Amino acid sequence: MPAFLWIKNGRVIDPATKRDAVGDVFAVDGKIVDRLGPADRKRAKVVDAKGLVVAPGLVDIHVHFREPGQTHKENILTGSRAAAAGGFTTVVCMPNTSPPIDNAGTLQLVNAAAAKAAVRVYPTACLTVGMKGQQLAPHGTLKNNGAVALTDDGLCIQSNELMRRAVEYAKMFDLPVLDHCQDDSLTDKAVMNEGNVSTRLGLKGWPHAAEDIIVARNIILSHYTGAHIHLQHISSALSVELIRRAKKDGTRITAEATPHHLALTEEALASYDTNFKMNPPLRTEADRQAIIAGLKDGTLDCIGTDHAPHSPDEKDREFDYAPNGILGLETALPVCLKILVGEARCKLPHVIDLMTRRAADILRLPAGTLAPGANADVCVFDPTEQWTYDATKGQSKSRNSPWHGQRLTGRVHTTLVGGKVVFANGKIV
Ligand SMILES: [Zn+2]
Ligand SMILES: [Zn+2]
Repeated sequence: MPAFLWIKNGRVIDPATKRDAVGDVFAVDGKIVDRLGPADRKRAKVVDAKGLVVAPGLVDIHVHFREPGQTHKENILTGSRAAAAGGFTTVVCMPNTSPPIDNAGTLQLVNAAAAKAAVRVYPTACLTVGMKGQQLAPHGTLKNNGAVALTDDGLCIQSNELMRRAVEYAKMFDLPVLDHCQDDSLTDKAVMNEGNVSTRLGLKGWPHAAEDIIVARNIILSHYTGAHIHLQHISSALSVELIRRAKKDGTRITAEATPHHLALTEEALASYDTNFKMNPPLRTEADRQAIIAGLKDGTLDCIGTDHAPHSPDEKDREFDYAPNGILGLETALPVCLKILVGEARCKLPHVIDLMTRRAADILRLPAGTLAPGANADVCVFDPTEQWTYDATKGQSKSRNSPWHGQRLTGRVHTTLVGGKVVFANGKIV
């Protein structure tokens, strides 16, 4: 007998189909359908969504799941459970693993682990061999083995000549390039944003110009070659402005912002708490406002968490020596609701759009909508429920979150993948 699903009486928000009304969502055998007949409704699994929002499962095109090689921090299974707990049903993992994902064999290992994950996990692969920025990786082979995009995230190709060849080669295989924009010559030993606060704290600064220069380089190369370049975790106001202009010119540039760059500034570093250390660093209030404006007007296309687990003993070091990065999946929705809806007065459907369809569209993933025929990947959440986030009780293997112990507003109740409940009532199913 087919598997019937009936999600009842929620506020259904599906930006892709412009739906925003109280109603039902139905699925048969893991695919969304318009309706279920009375007999099928009787046999359906029912999810009561009264008083809750029913949205497409969230999509994150920027996560680090540390497999292979650093599975003491996270693995694909635990990372996917953190995703499910955060309402995400499709995630894209970065290839800066150990060894890096730059060949068919490693991709096959990742695909095998992804097949057992709680949510849909798509791999990316390296642009250059070993992420060394010297020699192009075999892009065609990587695509044939499931890579949905190419990136050396964490390291930025410094040679403009090599980057030009990399994006042209990727374009031949119709693969987007995701770039971590950082001119290394400007950020040697840098650990936080360069400015008054870094001077006051006595920490080495990472000037936003190091991001802006590479954003401009990538815009120019995209314009010149016609290649699609996606700019990761944009943190600087000038970068937002450069992207805005590039889009007006019709350049094939897309860009993302993280929840932490939306919500936090460099002032948080006054405590020297390494849970505020990430790359690119938290910047100024003016940068934060520019990122919010960019997400509002479409200059920035989507939210990407840059979920970056690190073990407690690695993070619990002197500020200069602690690794960059924080957890993101389990707190992204409430943080985005707080800033974009609560503070910036965005409409809820717009925020859901940034976290679903628009993210999926960048990499052409089959996700991000509740349209009939789509995968029945669904996030059911309460946008107003208050709760205290306890990172020690999270699904991730790691604990490095700046939101630990904080009151958050907006809580995921149920996450479904392919019509099956994978997370409900605070637990992985
Ligand atoms: Zn990065
Ligand atoms: Zn990253």
